[in-house]
Amino acid sequence: MTKQKGFSNKEVAELLRNVATTYLLQSKAPINRFRIMAYENAASTAEHLTRELKDIWEEGKLREVPTIGESIAANLEELFKTGRSSYFEKILKRVPSSVFVLMKIPGMGPKKSYRLVKEFHLNNPNTAIADLKKIAKAGKIAVLENFGEKSQSDIIESIERYEAHKHRDDRMPLPYAHALAEKIIRYLLEHPRVKRVDALGSLRRKVATVGDIDLAAVVKEKYVKEVIEYFTRYSGKIAVDNAGRKKASIIVSPNIQVDLRLQKAASYGSMLQYFTGSKAHNINLREYALKKGLSLSEYGIRKLKDQNSKIKNIEKQKNIKTFSDEKTFYHYLGLQYIPPELREGTDEIIKASKNQIPKLLSIGDVKGDLHIHSSYDLKPSHDFGQNTYLEIVKKGFSLGYKYVGFTDHNPKITGLNSKEVVAVMKKRKDYIDKVFSTHPKRSCQYFIGLEVDILPDGLLALPEKAFAYVDFLIAAVHSSFGLNQKTMTKRVLRAMSYPKVKILGHPTGRLLGKREGYELNWAEIFSFAVQNDIALEINSWPQRLDLPDALVREGVRYGVKYAINSDAHRCRDMDGLYYGVSVARRGWLEKESVVNTWSYQKMKSWIAN
Ligand SMILES: [Zn+2]
Ligand SMILES: [Zn+2]
Repeated sequence: MTKQKGFSNKEVAELLRNVATTYLLQSKAPINRFRIMAYENAASTAEHLTRELKDIWEEGKLREVPTIGESIAANLEELFKTGRSSYFEKILKRVPSSVFVLMKIPGMGPKKSYRLVKEFHLNNPNTAIADLKKIAKAGKIAVLENFGEKSQSDIIESIERYEAHKHRDDRMPLPYAHALAEKIIRYLLEHPRVKRVDALGSLRRKVATVGDIDLAAVVKEKYVKEVIEYFTRYSGKIAVDNAGRKKASIIVSPNIQVDLRLQKAASYGSMLQYFTGSKAHNINLREYALKKGLSLSEYGIRKLKDQNSKIKNIEKQKNIKTFSDEKTFYHYLGLQYIPPELREGTDEIIKASKNQIPKLLSIGDVKGDLHIHSSYDLKPSHDFGQNTYLEIVKKGFSLGYKYVGFTDHNPKITGLNSKEVVAVMKKRKDYIDKVFSTHPKRSCQYFIGLEVDILPDGLLALPEKAFAYVDFLIAAVHSSFGLNQKTMTKRVLRAMSYPKVKILGHPTGRLLGKREGYELNWAEIFSFAVQNDIALEINSWPQRLDLPDALVREGVRYGVKYAINSDAHRCRDMDGLYYGVSVARRGWLEKESVVNTWSYQKMKSWIAN
């Protein structure tokens, strides 16, 4: 399918969120609460989907998307079909559009935005932010009831930060966010009063891209101030954004916000749960709890004596049950513990209520890495690696692996005739066998593989005779990304038909923040992979994290097998396989679905067919 114009998931999410905001601002009847949640939920789903909603609609499967209910689906249908939705337009008219513009400023909620728009007649959405900044600088906000000097200077600062950021995509690939957070966590743990630190939000859920870094720490009440001060002295910070009583924000290079929240041990579990999200998960969980007469907050769980008791009173109530850890929090609700990676508002709560949360794969289950580039000069068509075969095996050994796969890129064949290509491949095999024949046996074995280009017509880049000198092939698309879905699917299936292909490498070809993946007919790819015993790759390279998690989960329903690989070009990149495991966990994978959790013997016979 060619890329559709207009109505990307991001735009749809924004639209749905604006509808929710309108309902919120007009909220009188309690019925609106459910509408608001329905739209919020659907918006969050749209944001996290790895496929375009419009494409799903074209396939007639819009109603199969979790959280998209009948009425939202009907409105989206009209939107996709005609380019507009009369219902959304009618609703959105009730609130000046400047309100939605102001809400893009961090810290600016619907009610505050609405009030400022009304108060200062900010009727032009194109200039609303600039106008508000002028008004704030003129000191006109501070004198409003419920605002004051502090809130005025916060607004100016937020607008300035928004202006500095708005032209770039603030989300970074998970591995970068993770590495950055690890450094700050280590720093915090050096403080004697800090007992424990955890990531929160999308970082803890291991979403492929992360915006701000949110952290939580266990600290006794009396040391809170000391720890906040310590945090704001972190050497990597370029600014302190704000430092409150129990939380603080700093900015670290290159302009990433890091928030820290402190909590005493007794209520730490509830807080962790609350700020891990996702929003959709927490909304569903609140609904679930409500049916049991329980109300949830960042402080814990409270029994609602009266089902009709007003939400406003929750914070005032004293009898809140607190939780030091999340497990007991979920158990108290009658649910199995839900790992953070699954908290996306799909069907995890239903599954947890039936004790059907799977035992997710963990990094310790991995016994090998089948996609590694060496420094051997195979005259490759792409970049080659920096370490020798021997160094790769040693690194595999140090990671506790039983095997590694050498998968250099195929030689570039322009200028070589087919006989010469075969000779180049044979020479490499002889070289590898020789290197290891003079070396004492190690517990980490190797397979000779090759990452071979899938040409635009679906043929592989080398003559078949050349494949006599490899144990297995990873087939991957490295060119002509713009083909339509049908042609691309045919192309990939043809490549997968070669007998030595055991893995389809980085199956969508996406590069996070740079290139969207190409479209494939996944039902066909999944079925073909299952029938022909081919594993789909979960590539751990920071900008790839490909196959994406939602597709991983879809594949599970077909019985697809996966290979989680590092695609390392240096030995130290092999550590990055951890991130592929994160993707696998978000895709609900158990150990059984992943081929490189197998023993060497089992792997050997799978590769030999
Ligand atoms: Zn590749
Ligand atoms: Zn590669």
